[in-house]
Amino acid sequence: MDKNFTEVVQSTFAEPLAAATPEVDGAMPWGQETYSTKRHGFSINNCESEPIRTPGCIQAHGALLVLRCSDLSVLQASENTLAILGHKPLDLLGHSVAAVVNEEGAIRLRSMLATEQTDRNPIYAFTLPANDEVAALDVTLHTIDGAAILEFEAAVRSQRAAGTMPHSLSQNANPDYYSFIKKSVTRIQTADTVQEFCQALAEEVRVLSSLDRVMIYKFHPDNHGEVVAESRLSHLVPWVGLHYPAADIPKSARDIFAKTWIRPVPDMHCELAEMIPRANPDTGQPIDMIHCALRGVSAMYTEYSKNMGVAASLTMSLRRESVLWGLIICHRYSGPSHVPYELRAACEFLAQVASLQYRAVEDRENATYRLRLEEVNQKLLSIAAQEGGLASMTDGEPSLLSAMHASGAALFHRDRWWRVGSTPTESQLEALGQWVVGRLDVGAIVSSVYVTHSLATDYPAGAEFADVASGVLAAPLSRSGQNLMMWFRPEVEKTVNWGGNPHDDTPAADPGDTLVRPRHSFEPFSESVFRHATPWLEVEIDAVSRLRALIMELVIVRAERLAGLNADLARSNEELDAFAYVASHDLKEPLRGISKYAHQLMEAGSPDEDDKRKLEGLLRLTLRMDSLLDSLLHFSRVGREELTLENVDMNDVLGDAMEMIGSRTSDGRTQIVAPRRLPPAMCDRVRVREVLVNLLSNAVKYNDKADKRVEVNYVGAHEASLRRTFPPGSEGQTVYYVRDNGIGIASRHFEQVFKMFKRLHGREEFGGGTGAGLTIVRKLVERHRGQVWIDSIAGEGSTFFFTTSRSDET
Ligand code: ADP
Repeated sequence: MDKNFTEVVQSTFAEPLAAATPEVDGAMPWGQETYSTKRHGFSINNCESEPIRTPGCIQAHGALLVLRCSDLSVLQASENTLAILGHKPLDLLGHSVAAVVNEEGAIRLRSMLATEQTDRNPIYAFTLPANDEVAALDVTLHTIDGAAILEFEAAVRSQRAAGTMPHSLSQNANPDYYSFIKKSVTRIQTADTVQEFCQALAEEVRVLSSLDRVMIYKFHPDNHGEVVAESRLSHLVPWVGLHYPAADIPKSARDIFAKTWIRPVPDMHCELAEMIPRANPDTGQPIDMIHCALRGVSAMYTEYSKNMGVAASLTMSLRRESVLWGLIICHRYSGPSHVPYELRAACEFLAQVASLQYRAVEDRENATYRLRLEEVNQKLLSIAAQEGGLASMTDGEPSLLSAMHASGAALFHRDRWWRVGSTPTESQLEALGQWVVGRLDVGAIVSSVYVTHSLATDYPAGAEFADVASGVLAAPLSRSGQNLMMWFRPEVEKTVNWGGNPHDDTPAADPGDTLVRPRHSFEPFSESVFRHATPWLEVEIDAVSRLRALIMELVIVRAERLAGLNADLARSNEELDAFAYVASHDLKEPLRGISKYAHQLMEAGSPDEDDKRKLEGLLRLTLRMDSLLDSLLHFSRVGREELTLENVDMNDVLGDAMEMIGSRTSDGRTQIVAPRRLPPAMCDRVRVREVLVNLLSNAVKYNDKADKRVEVNYVGAHEASLRRTFPPGSEGQTVYYVRDNGIGIASRHFEQVFKMFKRLHGREEFGGGTGAGLTIVRKLVERHRGQVWIDSIAGEGSTFFFTTSRSDET
């Protein structure tokens, strides 16, 4: 024997051997030594903290050896090896496993370790034949964290021959699991609905296992469970439809079920056998028994099950795309039920097939609905693409409500809510929208949706409109989360039947006992549930996720197209600016010549009145052309000169602008007012002053009222109700405006007035002008990436709006 090994073992199990008595030493602070469910099971005070993967002991109906992979020597043995294997644990430790499985067995194990996928995957190795002392044993092997684990359990055939097996299949000495499974798989594969599927699964597993009750137990989003289907002996009380609190299957247990397929507990009253030594001497760590069929049962679980009258259980996982969604829970009430390896393998296989099939059945059940959702979504998208706006999804046919089983939908887009059907009010939507976006993971905002069928639980303010929106399905449409789609479902009356009062805190076993004890009472308990809507289906969540992805794609394609157009536009603008500069500059020269000669002819004395008039006309035209060329030159300069951006106090700028147009307002009939202080802007002070000078002078100029009134004001980023008609790109921006009570502009001219040299009046009317002012205003604003637009009623007045920057497209 390896010397080191002996020392380690002796020091490690000196205490465990002495303490290898069945009674539980509740006072032991197990934090200071290797945990064992057998001795510390009830010394915990929080069942989440029970180390159920490393219980330090096994169910004593079998035996377990931990081997070192390199030489197959025994590192740990369960304390019951004498009874099961015919060898005392101490006689095995440090020796080759051949002492138990013979040379032949050891060779087989070595070859399995070399050639088979044994890591975290128990595989049947061989059956040890019975001898005078011990019964025949099935041996399974798997490896974990570098150690090999051998599990020994009573062999199927000998058990069956003894007639102790309750299984219907075990009547036959060689049960044909293959044909049985084939038939079961066909049955569950052809189920048309999830309910049919679960029922078929429960029935097939019961026939296979011959246990008393088989339940399909589904986890709800809050992890509480519900029995959705069952197959049971006819005299048993039905449990289908009953709900169980999340704590009944704690997170630590659910985590194990998410990684393993089957959990047999053949005898709830079976003793536990501790590992000797309790830690692996090679690593100093307790062995991870997550994949061991013999893993010692949690003290909580055995007590809970006994309270429920369960004598034996077998549990399998049900997953949907690798996420645990439920369990197949099988019970026997009348006594222990050993489930041999082969039968376990068959049950495990059935659970795996059911997990793979689940998604397909769900799809089949909802195929028509899915198709309808898909079809409507495609239509919505093509309308949005053609009409150029998402708002079309809420007004018109189809809408966001056409296919989805919801009572209302709302869309936040272009700074306002668009609603269809029955929805919370705008202010409720506003607050809810902000809360939803805050709740979504900002990093993953484009892939996340918020789904609830009980909004008030997550969002207490939702209680106020539970009748309209207890169910909410929300998907953001932009990275910032500013744009959002939501669907709503109203509250529905519902009663939940619990298997025991979920609000009852378990009475402690003895007064003053602070330790957790599983509950005793499973008496049916009915509870009315308020502020709950019909839950959203997976198919609906999928459809929303897809619609969102398509919309975002559309927006991105648009943004790219827009970026391309912008680049083209910028290029042609530069060319135009250069052309305007050259043309106006070069034309000035000959114009000066024409003007000079006309003057000389005038001064030389004109032969007749007619020629004199013509010369005067020529001079007037040269003057006009000169001012047109000046405007053109100025326009091209605006396009080429760099901006100096700074944080500008717009009130100062307004003051300067008013001073500059002073003479035009000094008639005593003109009043320019700024009712509130303007917020600052990041802009070029001089250029924005020029914008204001142009707008203010037009407001005064194109005004025929006796009292001319001009207002300079703004609409704040959050004054949503005032922003309805504002163009895209102005979202979140301060919008400044100049409003007059002048002659107004007919809406058909809104675009024209921004064109170069375009005037709506005769040359001399309203004080004349070149028609370049608004073109330059637009150019100045656009150089800031802002926008300028008009709202006006002919005869009543005009409002010119502008921004000094632009929000990013969604
Ligand atoms: P100009 O004032 O030199 O004609 P603008 O480019 O500033 O050139 O204006 C173009 C035209 O738009 C004006 O000729 C006028 O018809 C119209 N316009 C501009 N501002 C106003 C206003 N505040 N109210 C009514 N019409 C206006």
